[in-house]
Amino acid sequence: MAVLVLKPGREKSLLRRHPWIFSGAVQQVEQEPGPGGTLDVLSSNGDFLARGFFSPHSQIRARVWTFDPEEQVDADFFRRRIHSAVCARDLFNPRRKGEGTEVVSTDSLRLIHAESDYLPGLIVDRYSDTLVMQCLTTGVEIWREQLANILLEETGLTNIYERSDADVRELEGLPSRNGVIRGEISSPIPINENNLNFLVNVATGHKTGFYLDQRVNRQQVRELAHGREVLDCFCYTGGFTVNALAGGAKSVLSVDSSLDSLSLARENIALNSLSTERVELLEGDVFQTLRKLRDQARWFDMIVLDPPKFASTASQAGKAARGYKDINLLAFKLLRPGGILVTFSCSGGVDAALFQKIVAGAALDAGAEVQIINHLTQAPDHPVSLTFPEGTYLKGLVCYKIT
Ligand code: SAH
Repeated sequence: MAVLVLKPGREKSLLRRHPWIFSGAVQQVEQEPGPGGTLDVLSSNGDFLARGFFSPHSQIRARVWTFDPEEQVDADFFRRRIHSAVCARDLFNPRRKGEGTEVVSTDSLRLIHAESDYLPGLIVDRYSDTLVMQCLTTGVEIWREQLANILLEETGLTNIYERSDADVRELEGLPSRNGVIRGEISSPIPINENNLNFLVNVATGHKTGFYLDQRVNRQQVRELAHGREVLDCFCYTGGFTVNALAGGAKSVLSVDSSLDSLSLARENIALNSLSTERVELLEGDVFQTLRKLRDQARWFDMIVLDPPKFASTASQAGKAARGYKDINLLAFKLLRPGGILVTFSCSGGVDAALFQKIVAGAALDAGAEVQIINHLTQAPDHPVSLTFPEGTYLKGLVCYKIT
């Protein structure tokens, strides 16, 4: 049996059930398995701590499958984990909302959220009747075939696509993979989210194709957009734009640097029979565009800032902070009094407290008096295990500009 022995005193995080073992904590690996192979993690005294998988090329040398010494890692193990995660999604599936509440339709959800669903490195999103699977670690990679079969059986679906082409696979020494695993899949896939229609490009879109984590926040924008002149920055395929229009925005200016994303945004607007007269899609760099709009003395009643990740780790937080400060400061200047800023950070290296400080600094420098009227986070199908706080990555603030 392969065994990983920790250095003395390095068992604390495992006793708190954190699932990662860093290379610096490892004393030795006996009967070393191949990449992704199962091993037992022992303290320096030889006590069993966890059973996990080996990643010889990564700084995260092993990740935990189970803390139960009796639990074997086999197909049944994965079936139990997947079954439990899929069942949990039913709890908040809006389709189950009862009488007396608005019946909201959503056919797309994240089914497996990696470490937070106790399956380190496995992401599975459901887009209507198609699953999209992302394998980010060696452990998931070697079980990939079985995982795909179990996922189809547990959901009763027949289509599964693989988007294992994220950069983090390189850290694990894994090649990039992108294609159909089973079924007949024609991308883009039409989905319905909160009664609005979107096309999701599962083959070349970001992540697995769509930002499902913003579902609840898009609904919030829809509720607040009525009668407002809206600026949607980093609009991607139009998630916030379509919601603002559906919520009765007076106009929407949507900015992104990717022409492909903007053309899918245009299709998404048309899919919902929303008037294209109220919307302008602009290809451009947001940092420059915000300056141009300021120089043109343009004003808005609502601004959405949903930039890409500026920092993955806390060590990059300084650089990220400058980026967030810049766009938020400009946004506060472009907002009319009574205007709303909906601002996000998806950087793991910037926590909610730091993000709020950055936004506060931006408001101060813009000479704006601002209240937070809501704190936002990722949608509930992206849960956070209490033992894995790193699972909280999306932070958002809804800010009201008084003057
Ligand atoms: N709000 C979107 C997701 C945004 S993802 C939604 O809810 O679906 C981030 C987007 O920012 C991507 O579409 C990317 O093309 C764009 N982007 C990245 N850097 C940019 C920049 N400097 N200027 C403009 N767009 C940028």
